[in-house]
Amino acid sequence: MHEKRHFQVLRPREMDEFVKAKDALTERILEIPVEELFKVESVEMEFPEEARIFKSIYCAQCGEPVAEHRARVENGEIVCIPCFNEYSRT
Ligand SMILES: [Zn+2]
Repeated sequence: MHEKRHFQVLRPREMDEFVKAKDALTERILEIPVEELFKVESVEMEFPEEARIFKSIYCAQCGEPVAEHRARVENGEIVCIPCFNEYSRT
């Protein structure tokens, strides 16, 4: 498969110009007083709702805890998803 190119390779002179421009910009950023670079202020914000915690139950096959809503029932046994998938593959 042919890999898609996302950028063109620069010629040595162009590369040189690019590096100079980049260095000049870096220099300018480093010299800007911090108050000009960042705005620091108090903000009001709402915190996201707490995560709902689901009850854990233990897989009848491997014994690992699994969140109740993610558990599966296979032949009347409560199992975790990996164990459930093993059943369905056979
Ligand atoms: Zn399991």
